[in-house]
Amino acid sequence: MINIPKGTKDVLPQYSHEWQFVESHMRSLAHRFGFKEIRTPTFEHTELFMRGVGDSTDIVDKEMYTFNDKGNRSLSLRPEGTAGVARSYIENNLADLGLPVKMYYIGPAFRYERPQSGRLREHHQFGAELYGSPTPYADAQVISMASMLLDEFSLPDITLNINSIGCPKCRPLFNKAVRKYFEQHIESMCEICKERLVKNPLRILDCKVPSCAEISKNAPAPSDYLCEECSSHQQKLIDILTASKIPFKFNRHIVRGLDYYTKTVFEFVTSSIGAQGTVCGGGRYDNLTTSLGGKPTPAVGFGMGIERLLMMLENAKINITAPPRLDIFLAQVNSKSANFAFELAVTLRKHGLSVDTDLMDRSLKAQLKSANKVNAKFIIILGEEEISSNQIKLRDMQNGTETPLTMEQLRTLTFEQW
Ligand code: ATP
Ligand code: MG
Repeated sequence: MINIPKGTKDVLPQYSHEWQFVESHMRSLAHRFGFKEIRTPTFEHTELFMRGVGDSTDIVDKEMYTFNDKGNRSLSLRPEGTAGVARSYIENNLADLGLPVKMYYIGPAFRYERPQSGRLREHHQFGAELYGSPTPYADAQVISMASMLLDEFSLPDITLNINSIGCPKCRPLFNKAVRKYFEQHIESMCEICKERLVKNPLRILDCKVPSCAEISKNAPAPSDYLCEECSSHQQKLIDILTASKIPFKFNRHIVRGLDYYTKTVFEFVTSSIGAQGTVCGGGRYDNLTTSLGGKPTPAVGFGMGIERLLMMLENAKINITAPPRLDIFLAQVNSKSANFAFELAVTLRKHGLSVDTDLMDRSLKAQLKSANKVNAKFIIILGEEEISSNQIKLRDMQNGTETPLTMEQLRTLTFEQW
């Protein structure tokens, strides 16, 4: 037998309505904020992620699924959504749509990580990207969108952490201070962080190895090195969030794991789903388009992990939604009635009803049992008599009541009348 690859999951038919519910909520929320959906390919040129996300970040350096195709091009399964959207924004001149350009996506991301609860090799993200606006109101808008979504699911125990990691003007000062600090602790750091110290010392601040995390606690914080522009941007954002009653904590230690961030970074974290508690991460990335060869364009966005969100809903025992039910099961008694049922089902489905018939050659008793099992709302038994008299009984499966209808009445039932 061939098993599912490690770190991936099937969404089984008995659970897919949960995904559909969460996704449709995301779409409706994005619409309320004026964001339109963008769909980009699942794989891109490897170069895009090396330049866009950064080749010394964990996700590009260690976690990416990279392969050569038959034309010997190096391609990678997307490890995140932002770089592909940026590529598309530049390539399709989306700025022509009028700024700001506000987009969202829902789709898979692939990372070669050690699978564990809340950490998969294929996971799914709901992401939002806002292009063209440098104002902190844009940061606040995307933060408000993520916050409202989590709020509307009534999820308990979520904290929004925000911080600023500065810009190319002030970051070098901070980088230098970080390097100097960790050089003093090099003996107690993990092997990967020793490498990071040379390539990209900021990444050490994101290391989850306990000894490194311990050292990081006293490391310099970016907020101590912000230039005038970055610090007033941060203050303004704090004022907007406070005035709009969006609860947050200023957390001087978060830096996020991707290279493209500038100024604002934020995370929504929870303790309700174990160690992998970051459900959403985002920030501003004003230099992403230029690093991909496009015009300078300020941008801000977030990525939210759908599996982690579903885990939170499950752990909080939030009743997402009942699976959609079959409206009518048409039971048949012989081959003549089977033909009749088949044709009637076609008509009723055209009217928008969800209808099924027996495809298993079951006895009438077994058909009624299976209608019960699929939780049909109503059943109709199409016996000889019903067919010849054009008179049927619509039986409510919940309370057993029967409503007589002529075949004509049944055939003209519409979904709205239902
Ligand atoms: P983490 O710190 O947990 O590794 P990250 O900083 O790598 O997260 P992002 O790159 O910001 O995560 O991705 C956005 C969101 O996608 C995360 O907040 C998380 O909810 C989800 N996510 C990221 N990696 C995985 C994964 N391997 N499995 C499941 N969900 C993930
Ligand atoms: Mg990660």
